[in-house]
Amino acid sequence: PRPPLLRIDGLSAGYGGAAPVLRDVSLTVESKQIVAVLGANGAGKTTLLRTVSGQLRSSAGRVVFDGVDLRGVKVERMVRHGIAHVPEGRGVVTELTVDENLQLGGLWRKPRPALDDIYDLFPALARRRGHLGHQLSGGERQMLAIGRALAAEPRLLLLDEPSLGLAPKITAQIMALLRDLRDRTGLAVLLVEQNVRSALSVADEGLVLSLGRVVTRNDAATLAGDADLRHAFLGF
Ligand code: ATP
Repeated sequence: PRPPLLRIDGLSAGYGGAAPVLRDVSLTVESKQIVAVLGANGAGKTTLLRTVSGQLRSSAGRVVFDGVDLRGVKVERMVRHGIAHVPEGRGVVTELTVDENLQLGGLWRKPRPALDDIYDLFPALARRRGHLGHQLSGGERQMLAIGRALAAEPRLLLLDEPSLGLAPKITAQIMALLRDLRDRTGLAVLLVEQNVRSALSVADEGLVLSLGRVVTRNDAATLAGDADLRHAFLGF
């Protein structure tokens, strides 16, 4: 069998001298797979994405992406390996236009990617291509952040809380888009979400982090139907 696109083995990480936030986390993501990372506030979901994308150093364990050990890869070079990270809070450059933000995403690609594909995905952005980041609504900013990540043509998207602050209708649009992208391009997604229903509606599989450990992993439909699990870890 082919090795998974992303393999995390025994990963531990944290902040400074404090107790570790991630404890012995192991997981895999296959290409074309959407994996939701669920768990209460403070469980370590954001920390997991930061560690995979190299913003945070691990204290133990390995992250291997497409056969490459990511430990030696600098954060700004991750995108060349095929990993794009959309952080919580999104990271749109508010003083640049929509078009300039998208160009930034594809900067290292030669030839530079056509932005038409991104605008086809997000017609709302096409209508606002000359607007500055700070003139956009929350939903448009989130779309721009995702669009900018996609301009780098990643094989794995690390997506942190895309539904944060968005109306349910916009959240549903973003989730549908993820599925569509996955189907058409084979993109894999590691999706951190507080909104468990939304996440499980789009994910193939989900895992639950509790106090920095993976306490369960299963297919999304099974997790959504597991009332005990929902009560214990997910609060609904
Ligand atoms: P949330 O949805 O609230 O962001 P989360 O599951 O993403 O939750 P993390 O943000 O990964 O959780 O935080 C996990 C733990 O790490 C928390 O106890 C938090 O206080 C701590 N932590 C997060 N960021 C930092 C930081 N920059 N410095 C120190 N501790 C941090």
